[in-house]
Amino acid sequence: MPGAKAAAAPMKVAQVPKPGADFQIVEREIPKPGVGQVRIKVEACGVCHSDALTKEGTWPGIQYPRVPGHEVAGIIDEVGAGVSGWKQGQRAGVGWHGGQDNTCRACRRGDFRNCSNLKIPGISYDGGYQQYMLAPIEALVPIPESLSAAEAAPLLCAGITTFNALRHSGAMPGDLVAVLGIGGLGHLGIQFANKFGYKVAAIGRGPENAALAKKLGASVYIDSKATNGAEALQKLGGAQVILATAPSSKSMSELIDGLAPNGKLMVIGVTFEPIEVTPVQLITGSRAIQGWAAGTPADSEDTLRFAELTGVRPMIETYPLERAAEGYARMLSGNAQFRVVLTM
Ligand SMILES: [Zn+2]
Ligand SMILES: [Zn+2]
Repeated sequence: MPGAKAAAAPMKVAQVPKPGADFQIVEREIPKPGVGQVRIKVEACGVCHSDALTKEGTWPGIQYPRVPGHEVAGIIDEVGAGVSGWKQGQRAGVGWHGGQDNTCRACRRGDFRNCSNLKIPGISYDGGYQQYMLAPIEALVPIPESLSAAEAAPLLCAGITTFNALRHSGAMPGDLVAVLGIGGLGHLGIQFANKFGYKVAAIGRGPENAALAKKLGASVYIDSKATNGAEALQKLGGAQVILATAPSSKSMSELIDGLAPNGKLMVIGVTFEPIEVTPVQLITGSRAIQGWAAGTPADSEDTLRFAELTGVRPMIETYPLERAAEGYARMLSGNAQFRVVLTM
């Protein structure tokens, strides 16, 4: 019946049909929000390196086809049963933290970030590479009016991860903080570190990003191709914190000797290769290595508010949803300046 077909309004979706397969642009019916969920009319979704976990199937247990995307910004266009505190027409986003179980040991201690059954949009359920998306309310982040959807989206993973890792790193105003890597994460990390009042040393490979790093707030640029990064940091007195954003275990290992006494390597760049360090390197100067994963939606809210207050903004390249494959390839190439964002 033509009438019945017209009633089911379709939406466009960029899905991964199976691990390692190319993106497919398909039409699906617009989903209805269930109990405790809202439907978001997606306006923008950032393309994160971690979307490769879905694209390549390296995260265990993903059900396919799956729609990636965990840097989602849009407008709530329908609320499900039992939803309070969120209303139709409200701007909202979803980041890496896509919901917690509220019952595991970490959740019972209020540590939702480390929920042992954490849900991740684009992995546990369909994410933001689509025109409409369902999300549980515990995953929602309100978006301030002054931020556009395309600016807010990358702040919900790349932004919160650098912001939250830095504010929990123990570095104090005036301390030397190094940011390894000037990419999707690093270009935000440099800005946040500068606004937190640190002396920022940006570390990149090659001279290309030197001027930009300084514009973003670095007072020193270290070209790790031309100089020994650890030695350069020691000449400056040693870094209290090295925020390791580049997904390169080798680059991280090479910098450990650049830490000041009681300094910390804060690891947020995702790789599966081991970081190499000797016990002597850590014992000398009581140095530490710590990993950090994003944060809760409340942490994202802090990130957006801080960005609004201080002018921290992602630098983005936008691609329409239909060109998701091209945008994803651009992200993987490492040449994007600096975050690829899909717009719907
Ligand atoms: Zn991410
Ligand atoms: Zn839990």
